[in-house]
Amino acid sequence: MNKPIIIAIDGVSGSGKSTMARTLAAKYNFMYVDTGAMYRAVTLYAIEKGYLTGDTLLKKQLIDDLPDIDICFDSDGHTLLCGIDVESKIRGMEVSSGVSKIATIPEVRSAMVDQQRKMSHSHSVVMDGRDIGTTVFPNADVKLYVTSSAEVRARRRLDELTAKGEKVEYDTILKNITERDYIDSSREVSPLTKAPDAIEIDNSHMSIEEQNSLINSIVEKHLSM
Ligand code: C5P
Repeated sequence: MNKPIIIAIDGVSGSGKSTMARTLAAKYNFMYVDTGAMYRAVTLYAIEKGYLTGDTLLKKQLIDDLPDIDICFDSDGHTLLCGIDVESKIRGMEVSSGVSKIATIPEVRSAMVDQQRKMSHSHSVVMDGRDIGTTVFPNADVKLYVTSSAEVRARRRLDELTAKGEKVEYDTILKNITERDYIDSSREVSPLTKAPDAIEIDNSHMSIEEQNSLINSIVEKHLSM
């Protein structure tokens, strides 16, 4: 088998990285890995075990449990936590509010990064997250860094959650997005930052079609080199 190819997509919360990653994975028949979903699944685990309540986090208990927290994806791309489909639960506001805090814990990060690296051993992958091009795969074949304004991202997330029937205010989402941007970019371990060799895409004013055409041309160019 040829060496697996790695496409790393990083960027701020709600910037459309996963739509981009899914589209590329389908086009090239690569495996798609949503690393945000992995941190969300650990957060859900902490909530359900009673380790994360409001501002209180029982960090040691969560770290001790890490070897038992089994996260994988089914053939529909749904996230499974210890064998149970948690795709819908991990997208709600409760998990969104706690996830960046959980993602600052070095032991959690190192457990997730190990799993993410293993996933690329036998498959070409498109992986999206915050530290893929900087920490997980510094030698990725293609690196994209996606941004858009916080207001545009909050509006898109509101539309998504409303379509799913979740009642939530625009201001609550904007606050959550701004807080996560801050925590993700200021944490000590693997903060969100653009890798020097990543190509930056600001999609605040781009349609999906414009974005797809841009990323297709970038990826085609890199993969044909
Ligand atoms: O991508 P998504 O918004 O679902 O990610 C949820 C949270 O998981 C992010 O706000 C961030 O705190 C954390 N995360 C991370 N590193 C990654 C992916 C996500 O710290 N590679």
